[in-house]
Amino acid sequence: MKARCNFRSRKTSGRNGKNYVLFIDVDGTLVACDPLFVRARENFVFLMHSLGFDSEAARQMIQDVDLKNARAVGFERDRFPMSMVEAYRELCKKFTPDSTPDTMVIELCTDIGHSPFFQAPQVFVNALPVLERASEYFLLVAVTMGNREAQEHKIYQAGFGGLFDELIITPNDNKPECVREAIIDMNVDPSQSAFIGNSLRSDGACLTETNFIHLPLEAGWAFDNHVLPVDTGFEAFTAVSWREVEERGIARLIRRREYKQAAKRRRKNVEQA
Ligand SMILES: [Mg+2]
Repeated sequence: MKARCNFRSRKTSGRNGKNYVLFIDVDGTLVACDPLFVRARENFVFLMHSLGFDSEAARQMIQDVDLKNARAVGFERDRFPMSMVEAYRELCKKFTPDSTPDTMVIELCTDIGHSPFFQAPQVFVNALPVLERASEYFLLVAVTMGNREAQEHKIYQAGFGGLFDELIITPNDNKPECVREAIIDMNVDPSQSAFIGNSLRSDGACLTETNFIHLPLEAGWAFDNHVLPVDTGFEAFTAVSWREVEERGIARLIRRREYKQAAKRRRKNVEQA
């Protein structure tokens, strides 16, 4: 998808032709993600409780099954409803082994599992104005895991549709690889660019490719509690809000770039004098 092609008035590249890019995660960074899944899981627990299962056992089961499936099959949209059905079957097997899972309940589990993907996205405070301002100085690339149709729909619904220069949507947990490819394809200067995301694991891994701004607005997955790669030659820091991302991350990248260019101009003037 091409959203934006007007480069003329933007200062998104250096004299050497290299582009400056902000790579931005979507779920849990631009839009709230956890509350939708928490609500769906609680709806599942309520359904299981109404069928006679213990609420805590149901809550633990859907958490365990979905975590296992996320690791095994990744982040396609079908995984969550599949996990709901599997968790229901497992509860039946464990607590009522003589019964057969009910077809109607399986359909309800599937519907609950699909529900997070069809809600109006809640955009985090200041994400949109900060990125609108940043777009004058950086190409903007969304880098998100999941199903292309669902993620594109979410980005448009959230009001970011016209803002991104590129959308990278991967079904796999391989953001560093995607960023590496984009850096080559888009002729990017990675030292003057950055990745912004809430996950130390999937987003923080991109510190091997460019600078990283950690914005932990949501905790993410249980297996997200990683440490960042070390000695990559790039810088990482944590911001608590989009305002801080702008003031301490984006503004500093622009400042460094401008001072570097000014120093280069001065050197050139001295050489010519
Ligand atoms: Mg995220």
